[in-house]
Amino acid sequence: MNDLEDLLQRNSNWAKSRKNEDSEFFAAAAKQQNPEYCWIGCSDSRVSPSQILDLPPGNIFVHRNIANQVNVNDINCLSVLEYAIYFLEVKHIIVCGHTGCGGIESAFNKPSSKFINPWIDNILKIRIDHKSDLDALSCKAERSNRLSELNVVNQIANLGNLSLVKDAWIKKLDLSLHGWIYNLSTGILRDLTGAVSSLSDLIFIRSLCTN
Ligand SMILES: [Zn+2]
Repeated sequence: MNDLEDLLQRNSNWAKSRKNEDSEFFAAAAKQQNPEYCWIGCSDSRVSPSQILDLPPGNIFVHRNIANQVNVNDINCLSVLEYAIYFLEVKHIIVCGHTGCGGIESAFNKPSSKFINPWIDNILKIRIDHKSDLDALSCKAERSNRLSELNVVNQIANLGNLSLVKDAWIKKLDLSLHGWIYNLSTGILRDLTGAVSSLSDLIFIRSLCTN
């Protein structure tokens, strides 16, 4: 049996197990999705949201990219957000970074690459904006993990600055933004920003982005 056959067998076992636990599981899932949460996370294979939140399918609408970025020019991310906010009517958007992030480390050791370099330009800018804070940390891992946290806060500011989100608040939709960090060594999530639910909350977040 090759590796991919193993994956198909794992899927078959999983589907049987879900059906044994709840005979209506797939019939209910096929009807509709009704997630309350939208997740913007890193593509890292160790930070799978349904797994670390222990949620079954149907509970979280997901967009992932290298270093969990919200970029005003990224139509992929913007279309996910538009669908999440205005069609699924999610109540919470979580931007989640993580310790030991390769995308964040790229901002310290710029790799020679065609696409990764331009993608991490925004993180490089955050690194430069917070140079004195980061330089004060003694070890490389601490600097990288601190930049992961600063990146999450900056991405929450980017998210709040989008007209998609501002319009939702103007229309009084129940929508909060949350910046979290996941510790790969402990499996624990930590809240970095609290709930950002209005333009006035956003002003506070913006103040954290400048040094
Ligand atoms: Zn990462």
